[in-house]
Amino acid sequence: MSSTPDFNKVLYAPLAEVDPEVQNIIDKETWRQFSGLELIASENLTSRATMEANGSILTNKYSEGLPNARYYGGNEYVDELELLCQKRALQAFHLDPAKWGVNVQPYSGSTANFAALTALIQPQDRLMGLGLPDGGHLTHGYYTAKKKMTASSIYFQSLPYGLDPETQLIDYKGVASLAKIYKPRLIICGASAYPRDWDYKALRETADEHGAFLMADIAHTSGLVAAGELADPFQYCDVVTTTTHKTLRGPRAGLIFFRKDSDKAKDLEKRVNDAVFPACQGGPHNNTIAGIATALLQACQPTWKAYAKQVIANATTLGQELVARGYKLQTSGTDNHLVLWDLRPLGLTGSKLEKLCDLVGITINKNAVSGDASAQVPGGIRLGTAALTSRDMREADMKVVADFLHRAVQLATVLQKEAGSKLLKDFVRVATTPEEGKVGAQQVADLRREVRGFARRWPLPGVDVSKLQRPAGIEEDE
Ligand SMILES: *Cc1c(COP(=O)(O)O)cnc(C)c1O
Repeated sequence: MSSTPDFNKVLYAPLAEVDPEVQNIIDKETWRQFSGLELIASENLTSRATMEANGSILTNKYSEGLPNARYYGGNEYVDELELLCQKRALQAFHLDPAKWGVNVQPYSGSTANFAALTALIQPQDRLMGLGLPDGGHLTHGYYTAKKKMTASSIYFQSLPYGLDPETQLIDYKGVASLAKIYKPRLIICGASAYPRDWDYKALRETADEHGAFLMADIAHTSGLVAAGELADPFQYCDVVTTTTHKTLRGPRAGLIFFRKDSDKAKDLEKRVNDAVFPACQGGPHNNTIAGIATALLQACQPTWKAYAKQVIANATTLGQELVARGYKLQTSGTDNHLVLWDLRPLGLTGSKLEKLCDLVGITINKNAVSGDASAQVPGGIRLGTAALTSRDMREADMKVVADFLHRAVQLATVLQKEAGSKLLKDFVRVATTPEEGKVGAQQVADLRREVRGFARRWPLPGVDVSKLQRPAGIEEDE
């Protein structure tokens, strides 16, 4: 064997050796994930197999185009991989390959959505999606009075639909009457913060009245849809998009499913594939596609349904436990993996509870709740159970989590008083700096210790936690 020149020696050294700084950051993040409770509804903990595929040599290969129609050579195995991934995607969602196809190349959920819009409608065409403050996603046409915030409102006209203020459920009648006036070319359903299931049939009827396409973006719920635990959007939609890293528990990416027999267009397959490449993307990330394939294989197993059921049971229990402690949830409960917790009756903002929970190792996010006075001050919190369920937690454990959250709320009220102002920075100061005559900081430290002790009793997918050690750069009180 020839001797490796100096400029190439680096290619063989492990990360820890060649770049201890990045290695240390990864170690700290691993420690954080092990030591905390992950309740962000859009997150999950992917498998060791997915991470292996995602970190593989497949990252080296360019493969613009589709299997057996590439712009580069050397794609015989990449073709095999992408076809396998497509097959598993259809299988995971119980789709007949004669009726549905899928593009597995989107880099992420947002790019999948923009490619789908590019495929379905023309620039400046009208679309309707659930408004962002009502739980919709940015990519469904969001804009403010001052600014077109996303490509979906920059390149298309959009009109948001919303929730029925009484029930906080999608106002399907409202969608129908808005559509009569607006005459959209596309209706988008699906959400990022909606705890209930969808009536796809009602939206199909509205879409049909105007000859519009119906697209479901099931980014959040796709794992539960694949398990058959939620209504089936494929029955009524022309196109279905999803991320692969939320309840589906894969790597970060997106998928676009298209009907081959849509009454609206016979050529959706070509339109979607052309929109992904070359219209919106370049070369596919083959390492990611391998990770998707591996995650989809898991979603095709009989055990997947049990996981999805547990995710929902955990969300239901978490919601019930909060209600039992006197708290208010949007729609009073959930059908899926998430609950929306309305903090307004407590005189507490989402930002403050999010901040405090961060300080004690519970990761959550502030979220608008229906009827918020200001979009800048979200009055609620969104909680999801997909990640904790991936750490083996069940209903009884959700009671412990609900108790931690209950204590966090009580503590936030104490801190708010001790802060002496409504400012977040004063709130953080009293939470982190012990002061004479104030109890807040000590109580924060106590709760953090308890949360940590509880979180570290659980495994962390892909990591041998028995070998984990606290990395340099993380200080811990006893
Ligand atoms: C998360 C999400 C997306 C965007 O996914 P990214 O991978 O972050 O680009 C799109 N749509 C919905 C409904 C989502 O919840």
